[in-house]
Amino acid sequence: MSKSVLIVAAHPDDEVLGCGGTIARHVAEGDVVHVVFMADGVGSRGDGSTYQHQRRNIARDQALEVLGVSECNAFDFPDNCMDSVPLLDVVQALEPIIEQVQPTRVYTHHSGDLNVDHCVTHQAVMTACRPMPGSSVREILTFEVMSSSEWATPSVTPFVPNAFVEMSDYLSKKLEALAAYEMEMRSAPHSRSVAHIEALARHRGNCVGVDAAEAFVVIRMVE
Ligand SMILES: [Zn+2]
Repeated sequence: MSKSVLIVAAHPDDEVLGCGGTIARHVAEGDVVHVVFMADGVGSRGDGSTYQHQRRNIARDQALEVLGVSECNAFDFPDNCMDSVPLLDVVQALEPIIEQVQPTRVYTHHSGDLNVDHCVTHQAVMTACRPMPGSSVREILTFEVMSSSEWATPSVTPFVPNAFVEMSDYLSKKLEALAAYEMEMRSAPHSRSVAHIEALARHRGNCVGVDAAEAFVVIRMVE
């Protein structure tokens, strides 16, 4: 039976870095996939010009096309400053989408990420998806985003995965989608280099006896 799946990402590129292979697999298996972006990912930069904004949007559209996603919403919460917005505003932006999409599974950021927008997004998802009677949401999983999840201070909850999605057949799609975000990638040796993203996929896969995987933490599962 096909599932309705929602990905809530702070910035365009987080969806591919965190769960691009999993998205491609959901699409291939006939699931309905909807992606939400909270901030544009460039507004906080010195070069956060209209040109950069448009470039990031084009990259986002290209990446979603590669992954086969046609349903997407993009908010313009302040980039890298989402902690300056009342949490309630972020929650209230998400609630109508959850109402409309009726997802059974939601993927979002790890709570302990270094990036503040990731943390606020996690918190807002937890509130918007609270397990009220009649809620469609049965599973919440968090993903890891390189240069944020593994760069966090040790005092926060580290990302320790307990769920894996095999994506051996979709790793090439993930890397193809990532190519759209070339401007966000860095040269190796760097946590957010293409070489490292591929190595991580192999590492997560080999940890569970498959060629390639993406790793998650199950926050809640209701069966
Ligand atoms: Zn991000």
